[in-house]
Amino acid sequence: MSYTALAGRIAVVTGAASGMGAETARLLAAHGAHVALLARREDRLKELAAEITAAGGTALAVAVDVTDQASVDAGAARIHAELGRVDLVVNSAGVMLPNPVDDGRIDEWTRMIDTNVTGALRIIRAFTADLVAAAADGRTADLVDISSIGAHVTFPNYAVYGATKAALTHLSASLRSELGPRDVRVTNIEPGLTDTELGSHIDNAELGEAGQLGAMFDTIGSLAATDVADLVAYVATRPRHVNLRQMVILPTRQA
Ligand code: NDP
Repeated sequence: MSYTALAGRIAVVTGAASGMGAETARLLAAHGAHVALLARREDRLKELAAEITAAGGTALAVAVDVTDQASVDAGAARIHAELGRVDLVVNSAGVMLPNPVDDGRIDEWTRMIDTNVTGALRIIRAFTADLVAAAADGRTADLVDISSIGAHVTFPNYAVYGATKAALTHLSASLRSELGPRDVRVTNIEPGLTDTELGSHIDNAELGEAGQLGAMFDTIGSLAATDVADLVAYVATRPRHVNLRQMVILPTRQA
């Protein structure tokens, strides 16, 4: 697919150290967008930035922890100084830490809420003025949030993760009422099972990649991160008056 409309867009992609964020950044840059790569692992970001630059693209590695306001502020200042006004924001940073609720893992709950909800909000806070100004200048402006089918489907041990994603889905829908009238599009994408690093942080062996999650991959297969990246690029290249508000993307065998 040709995504010529991406040329010259200034994009911020969080979670760009791996998975969907990395593939989205790669695809946007391949079609001419200038892309800021955000995540905590700077080595990964630098590697990807070097790959994009070697291929003739423009990328800036910006080590940012979305749970830390000072880190987001510093990252945003650098992006503004080096890339300019942002017109495409992709919130892909996220963590998924399932456990039974009666384990009382407040450390995991806090990390998921701070990353998946407040982290996305910090990024929205940092770049909404850019999106509104870009749209006012007649440019296409997009906020794309990567939520999850877990926002709707209940699953034992995933109550808190699902709650963070339901919050993000609701946030995206609500923001349309604020930003749509100012010509900023807001898109919420809800992927199903996707082959990334997301499951590798689960510390409960029964639920992790060697257990329940691995069995799900075996049974229903998975999307590739590139499938979701392709959807982000599709969404961002529709004509300016078209807002794909809510997208669900699942492996064919996932109910
Ligand atoms: P990955 O684990 O591969 O990617 C998550 C990214 O988020 C990493 O690059 C990680 O980089 C970054 N990240 C995590 N915490 C922070 C933080 N505090 N600050 C900045 N960056 C952070 O998984 P996916 O690509 O699958 O995840 C992308 C999104 O998709 C997530 O929001 C996830 O919830 C969602 N999703 C995933 C599904 C799946 O099956 N994989 C299904 C549905 C939704 P670093 O550690 O370097 O900071």
